[in-house]
Amino acid sequence: MDIKKESIKPREEEASKRSCSFDEVIHGYSEAEALQEALRCLQCKDPTCISGCPVNIDIKTFINQITQKDYEGAYLTIRSKNDFPSICGRVCPAEYQCEKACVFTKKGSPYASEKAINIHLLERFAGDYGKERNIGVQVKKDDELTRRRVAIIGSGPAGIACAGDLARRGINVTIYEALHLSGGVLRYGIPPFRLPRDILDFEIDSLKKMGVKLAPNHIIGKIKTIDDLFSEGFDAIFLGLGAGMPMFLGIKGENFCNIYSANEFLTRINLMSAYKFPEFHTPVNIGKSVIVIGGGNTATDAARASLRLQRMQGLKPNATILYRRTEVEMPARRIEIEHAKEEGINFRFLVQPEEFAGDDKGFVKKMRCLKCKLGEPDDSGRRKPIAISGSDFELECDMSIIAVGLAANQVLTRATPGLKTDERSDVIVNTKTMETSIKKVYAGGDIVGGEGTVIEAMGMAKKASEAIINYLKQL
Ligand code: FAD
Ligand code: SF4
Repeated sequence: MDIKKESIKPREEEASKRSCSFDEVIHGYSEAEALQEALRCLQCKDPTCISGCPVNIDIKTFINQITQKDYEGAYLTIRSKNDFPSICGRVCPAEYQCEKACVFTKKGSPYASEKAINIHLLERFAGDYGKERNIGVQVKKDDELTRRRVAIIGSGPAGIACAGDLARRGINVTIYEALHLSGGVLRYGIPPFRLPRDILDFEIDSLKKMGVKLAPNHIIGKIKTIDDLFSEGFDAIFLGLGAGMPMFLGIKGENFCNIYSANEFLTRINLMSAYKFPEFHTPVNIGKSVIVIGGGNTATDAARASLRLQRMQGLKPNATILYRRTEVEMPARRIEIEHAKEEGINFRFLVQPEEFAGDDKGFVKKMRCLKCKLGEPDDSGRRKPIAISGSDFELECDMSIIAVGLAANQVLTRATPGLKTDERSDVIVNTKTMETSIKKVYAGGDIVGGEGTVIEAMGMAKKASEAIINYLKQL
């Protein structure tokens, strides 16, 4: 087979067509495309890509297995470190992780080069292969563990990864989830055009088949406490509470109607299926001119969802992302920024909102902004935006979505005396075992590290599940 110098681009739904629906944008590799891309891998003696993966998947081996057409082997190699390759192959910011560490990316580059091996798409290919054929991994039931019970609070990536690890060893697991559906941000935050719901449903169903019990509509900290769960006979507890509390700008006029937090806006669309109105009776009245404030995945997801709703409701598409820095500093995945541009999202860089103004009925009508310039790098390593005084200008909008960050969900932490948290309200853990300040209570994911990524949350959960198993074996 002819080995290509450039990475093989995946096929995608055409921009004008896809931006009228919530169907998946990127089509996975065909077998021929996966083989072509896998053959580009140099099978390096020192595979630097592996150190770029938060859970150290043996990337070199699984890519080699793909070149040998051993797709089942590739799937199992990934599954030995990551239970959800079909999910991670779609949402992992690989350009900042394994692909940035691939030898094809120049050292010091802020993200992966165009030539880096498309590791995430190969992972997705192997993941979908395994999923479509229902290939399981060996369940190693441990007789001494089958009597043990673990409660998991939160069904996001951290919770479901921990549940999978424990259930495979025969432990009885119950996941308590505040919402009526499982998946955390994978369900209520990331839109279906990036992560189709059948993929998520499949993974949740697999957990159920392994015996994991799901308890939706349970806000732990309100209807039950940690002590109640121990009294009910659970031997250990894992907290995967996430960072579900939206941050706001704290500027004048932020309470006008039609100003949303991105979390609320995306929850209405994704969890409450606003995009399926009238099939679902929970529509979102989208604005004619939407301004999204922020530069992360949440901002690109909110803007792209807005534009889709505008087109679906027969409006002229008009959605803008406003960001204080420049495109280089945007934390969103590069592919999402490209897709947003192709779909017609406007970008205004180096701009900071100062105040919202509304009409006499209380609805937002415009915002006053200041232009910014970049200063020296701040704690995040990115150049700090500095507002230029006297550079005021106005932008019209009848809807604004604030996507400037998320903080710890504190419902349970506040209701649990003795559970130590830091100044950001994140739960403090022993980083080797993920055990919290309360014995037998472990934690992982965004509630520990702050806003992170799906694979980082799963990595922490894996560490915790190992520690929980070790503890349960001693009982
Ligand atoms: P979550 O996914 O937040 O799940 C926590 C769960 O716990 C929730 O379901 C919540 O309802 C439940 N819960 C909280 N408190 C309680 C309680 N007291 N009782 C019961 N249940 C409770 N990462 C990527 O890698 N790639 C991306 O493309 C990406 N895009 C993103 C887009 C958006 C819009 C957002 C918001 C985040 C995105 N992220 C992305 C980040 C990623 O989704 C998170 O890092 C990850 O979901 C964290 O997983 P978690 O399990 O810790 O928490
Ligand atoms: Fe080398 Fe990149 Fe292949 Fe990893 S993916 S083995 S770094 S060429």
